[in-house]
Amino acid sequence: MKLLKKKRKMTKNKHVPMRKCIGCNTSFDKRELIRLANADGIAVIDGEGNLSGRGAYLCKDMDCLEKAIKRKAFARAMGVNMTTENAESLRREYKDYAENSEVSE
Ligand SMILES: [Zn+2]
Repeated sequence: MKLLKKKRKMTKNKHVPMRKCIGCNTSFDKRELIRLANADGIAVIDGEGNLSGRGAYLCKDMDCLEKAIKRKAFARAMGVNMTTENAESLRREYKDYAENSEVSE
């Protein structure tokens, strides 16, 4: 029995890493999303993408942040027990981030 199926497609189309937004559960190009990281049990925006720890992704849309908070998606996705304080600071960071990132292109 010969299982020589070496048909590995090496097409060089740019592979875009897809990530799922934990707010709307839709997959996007990861560059379109904001990465969040679990910093000692607190969810923070990982703007540079270099924080370690469990991460999650969200659209650059406040609605998705709110959805994620409501659905307790942070606990599932990154092991963060979202507190009111954390949610508040996230909202602030989120706003700043969204405003800043708009200019960066
Ligand atoms: Zn979303």
